[in-house]
Amino acid sequence: MFILRCAEETRAARAAIRRAGQTLALVPTMGALHEGHIALALEGKKHAGHVWLTIFVNPMQFGPHEDFHKYPRPVEDDLARCREAGVDAVFLPEVATMYPPNATEVKIEVPDLAKDLEGPVRPGHFAGVCRVVAKLLALTLPEVAVFGMKDYQQLRIIEAMNVDLMLPTRILPHPIVREADGLAKSSRNRYLSPNERLRALGISRALDACEKLAQSGETSAAVLEDAMVRTLVAHALAIDYATLRDRQTLAPAETLVPGQSVALITARCGTTRLLDNREL
Ligand code: AMP
Repeated sequence: MFILRCAEETRAARAAIRRAGQTLALVPTMGALHEGHIALALEGKKHAGHVWLTIFVNPMQFGPHEDFHKYPRPVEDDLARCREAGVDAVFLPEVATMYPPNATEVKIEVPDLAKDLEGPVRPGHFAGVCRVVAKLLALTLPEVAVFGMKDYQQLRIIEAMNVDLMLPTRILPHPIVREADGLAKSSRNRYLSPNERLRALGISRALDACEKLAQSGETSAAVLEDAMVRTLVAHALAIDYATLRDRQTLAPAETLVPGQSVALITARCGTTRLLDNREL
């Protein structure tokens, strides 16, 4: 497995793949890898001859009071996991490689999709995500890039950016990978105390409750959202949102439309914000 650190060697490695007539799948991550990330890499392998995973804790997508400095960086473990999964190369840049100190800042925003949900809670977050993802795609020009549906709003924003900037990559969504008990895997789960870890289960249970009601024929968003809220409250979780949305526009839905709606939850468990969702 190659470890790429600078832009020039990364471009050269990419060019070598193209010269060999082969294709590339890219999996952008912030590291602290778990089975969810590895599933994205394995998915990438199905769609391209080479799979590269990027590990970069992107300072531009963290707010001043967020966990940029304490975000876990177990690089050796991450590299071992990548090797084991058959990842062909890991791109592991320094901050100065992605944001050279003398470069002029360029922002990319997707206002319609970013105005709500995570957007207002995390000002500048999605502009930071778009900027780094656009850079990673431009640098590596992969045939496909795999993103998790766990970050549902982020996925929609990246898809929109990819189309609008006419990037040549196909964005491939991958389903959420969960712990055996249903909790969505997340690098931030390691912040949870044993008691919080139990309470965090309330999030997937709230989605279960919502899905069960939907399957029984309930279509009122108010009723479905109320079921989620009640489950979250019963697990002593602080709710940022528990909402029914249109899958494409992320606009609030008054009525569930099977195949077109998604339930999205963000809740805080202690000081840890956890995201989850379910397409209905
Ligand atoms: P992260 O480094 O955790 O911010 O995420 C890197 C990529 O992994 C993003 O596309 C996430 O949506 C995806 N991802 C994170 N957790 C999961 C999960 N539990 N299941 C599927 N994809 C995930």
